[in-house]
Amino acid sequence: MDEKKRLAWFILVRVVVVSLFLASTIILNIKEPQSIPPAALAGLIKLIITTYLFSIISLLVIKFSEKFQPLLTYAQIIWDIFFVTLLLLLTGGISSPYSFLYMLSIINASVLLARRQAIYTASLCGILYGALLDLQYYGKLTAFGLSQLPALQSGAGYIFYTIFVNIGAFYLTAFLTGYLAERMRRSERALREKVIDYEELDRLNRSIVSNLNSGLLTINNEGKIRVFNHYAEILTGITQAEAYNKPLYAVLPSLRSFGGEIDSVERGEFDYRAQNGDIMTIGFKSAPLTDNKGSRDGIIIIFQDLTQVKRLEEELKRADRLAAIGELSAHIAHEIRNPLSSISGSAQLIAQGEGIDPKDKKLLDIVVRETDRLNELIKSFLAYARPTRPAKSPVQLKELLSVVESLSAADPRFHEVVINNRCREDLSLMGDHDQLEQVFWNLLVNAAEAMPDGGEITLDAEVVNSDSRAPRNGKMARIVVADTGKGMDKDEMSRVFEPFFSTKKEGTGLGLATVYRIVEAHGGRIMVESAKGGGTRFTIYLPAELPGEWPLP
Ligand code: ADP
Ligand code: MG
Repeated sequence: MDEKKRLAWFILVRVVVVSLFLASTIILNIKEPQSIPPAALAGLIKLIITTYLFSIISLLVIKFSEKFQPLLTYAQIIWDIFFVTLLLLLTGGISSPYSFLYMLSIINASVLLARRQAIYTASLCGILYGALLDLQYYGKLTAFGLSQLPALQSGAGYIFYTIFVNIGAFYLTAFLTGYLAERMRRSERALREKVIDYEELDRLNRSIVSNLNSGLLTINNEGKIRVFNHYAEILTGITQAEAYNKPLYAVLPSLRSFGGEIDSVERGEFDYRAQNGDIMTIGFKSAPLTDNKGSRDGIIIIFQDLTQVKRLEEELKRADRLAAIGELSAHIAHEIRNPLSSISGSAQLIAQGEGIDPKDKKLLDIVVRETDRLNELIKSFLAYARPTRPAKSPVQLKELLSVVESLSAADPRFHEVVINNRCREDLSLMGDHDQLEQVFWNLLVNAAEAMPDGGEITLDAEVVNSDSRAPRNGKMARIVVADTGKGMDKDEMSRVFEPFFSTKKEGTGLGLATVYRIVEAHGGRIMVESAKGGGTRFTIYLPAELPGEWPLP
């Protein structure tokens, strides 16, 4: 109960007590009209009416203002003490039966205020009571209708004895009730603190649940969802409000397959169709929930999106498989190459022999041409499947590009193509000459093939301090191979480096895969930008490992 309510109650109880007192006085007066002198009766009634008024005013003040409450509490106690004192004055002083009412004031002081105030109150009561009796003893209160008579009859000893006993009782009351009230207040405070602790714990719990980096949901014994945390919302795209009180299987239908064992799954997995239609793999763990008496309250399920992990797992498996296949097929390719050159050589010999039928010669030419093509394919396959570690040495980039350029001059695919080599003379880098040649050859061939009706290839190279796209810090060579060919769409662009991805009738799809591997083996990076019909631009970063020989432009 708060202080305000307690004070209001106190005032109300006083009104009731005073009313009872009034009633009993009136009844007594009717039954035995002579027992209360008329002056005393009038005084009593005035006193009671004033008390009523005081109580009503106090109640109003409590209701409308918090500010005066402490002051008001003191006022009530003091009012009480004076009420009792006046009552004693009106009802015969030492012979009045009402001196015990002081004790009620003391009790009130301990309940409404504190022990110390109760003792002050007891002192005040003692002083007033003592003064009253003394004054009566010395005949100073005859004006109030208090005769000296009973006191005189009893003698001074009796007076002091009465005062002593009463004051003793006042202090005893003050101590006892003060102590009890103190204990009550303390336990009330402790209880309140406990309540606050629970609230804090609850808040903490809530924030843990909602900030958890896993989905968390609980269902009750009817299988309806109760808790559905923030991460669960993100994962499923369903809000807590939507999920609340829905059957678990309505929200996560795939969980149905776990049937009755859903309450204790160590490591489960289920599929979930996301709102955008993607199928996600979700891993979960569940455990029964118990209430504080130990009986079953529902199930808690913690879950995580495993889609990414699963995909990675798949990729690793595939890479593993590919590595094994690569190893094996590289071996087979090697074995094919030797007989292939024998076939080609023999066919050429026969074709050159005398007296050969022109028809047969044509056939033999086909054999030679096709074996050569096969040989080319195997060569590029081996370049991809069995990359050798780059044997690094300083490479003059401009020179290397010129070699590649001159190779293209003899190739019919480059007949309509103009090559613009803008590379600086003084650019050199550490790398494997042959592998880098292969890189630029593959890129040039692709560019030429993208421009069957002719166009322009621009080669550009410069040294840059690593920018945000470069694979590492330090100086890098940035080489750009751009063409004005037919370009690619987004999907093609995302797949160009995949082995065996080709859009060409006779393509192997190994050219860019090989380029990618070589660039990576050199600690570099390759990127592609393109637009359908708008040309293509490959950017290659290769680390500059010859500091000092890399003048920045
Ligand atoms: P291939 O040339 O045998 O098809 P690549 O790995 O060299 O295999 O190239 C893969 C695919 O990438 C090509 O089939 C082509 O669709 C696309 N591509 C590569 N370079 C270019 C380019 N410069 N312009 C347009 N498309 C290109
Ligand atoms: Mg190619």
